[in-house]
Amino acid sequence: MRKLVLIGFVILLATSLQAQTPFKRVLKLMGSRFEITVVANSQNEADQYIDLAVDEMSRIEKLISSWDPKSQTSKINAMAGIEPVQVDKELFDLIKRAIGISKITDGAFDITYASMDKIWKFDGSMTEMPSPEAIKNSVSKVGYQHIVLNEKELSVYLDQEGMKIGFGAIGKGYAADVAKNLLMSKGVASGIINASGDMNTWGKQPNGEPWQVAITNPMDKDKAFGLLPIEHGAVVTSGNYEKYVTFNGIRYTHIIDPRTGYPATGIISATVFAPKAELADALATSIFVMGKEVGLNRINQLPQIECIIVDENGHVFTSNNIKIN
Ligand code: ADP
Ligand code: MG
Repeated sequence: MRKLVLIGFVILLATSLQAQTPFKRVLKLMGSRFEITVVANSQNEADQYIDLAVDEMSRIEKLISSWDPKSQTSKINAMAGIEPVQVDKELFDLIKRAIGISKITDGAFDITYASMDKIWKFDGSMTEMPSPEAIKNSVSKVGYQHIVLNEKELSVYLDQEGMKIGFGAIGKGYAADVAKNLLMSKGVASGIINASGDMNTWGKQPNGEPWQVAITNPMDKDKAFGLLPIEHGAVVTSGNYEKYVTFNGIRYTHIIDPRTGYPATGIISATVFAPKAELADALATSIFVMGKEVGLNRINQLPQIECIIVDENGHVFTSNNIKIN
């Protein structure tokens, strides 16, 4: 009996010595910088979990990449105007959700943006505005209404020749959601998937506090708006303050309105809070295109979604349930 009590005591001591600590790995995925943080008992344990997440996100990259000619996405693009392509249910469902986001944003978000002729350049090389005709032509093949889904066959057909889809504004968010769910299912109590600024968290820090996310102020990159606690949710910021071109005093940013072919104007940064990174990612891009009035209005209608918008004059606008000082 005394022996049993002693063993029990030793086990208790050993478990209490195994403190839960955050471990972080930085790596390149989907052409971007990712940071994966997991709370674990040891480096070894953390490494095993992080390897799982990396494998999973690499798998997703292979499925959705439009750069990789062997991906199912590239097959869909290659067969545009020719025939439907059968795909994994996972890709089918992602496309279906992307079309859903096009509907709630009146087409501001559109994965067929990839069919656009690239007539805008944001590297300083443009000397004059493209003609209205060239702009109109550049989006002639864009339109989510031309994605034909066959639920029974799990096939996807782009019904115009030359049409393409791309997941640039939603893929990182989707991958972050899948990685997070996988790690949660493996019993990882807490962590952060940071997909080049798309933050997706679960659980709490080992000290019991919620994870904090710094929201940067695009007008002054050294000054954050502040740290906001996020519990089991995602925060995504869209906005590349370097990529824009100015004509006649109007600043055109690198996100283009798929309905008109004109780059978005007026906003320099949009941050979206949502339960899932995928939706946050897509909506942050959409807000640029919708503009601040429509953008705020739309976000205020969506449950559990909030946003912070900074316009080109440095003015900050927030959705109804967000207060920042
Ligand atoms: P980033 O990932 O560069 O921070 P975003 O999440 O805003 O920025 O995504 C921008 C990317 O989304 C573009 O580089 C392009 O691949 C894609 N994209 C651009 N405009 C649209 C649009 N209207 N709808 C869907 N995707 C878009
Ligand atoms: Mg986005």
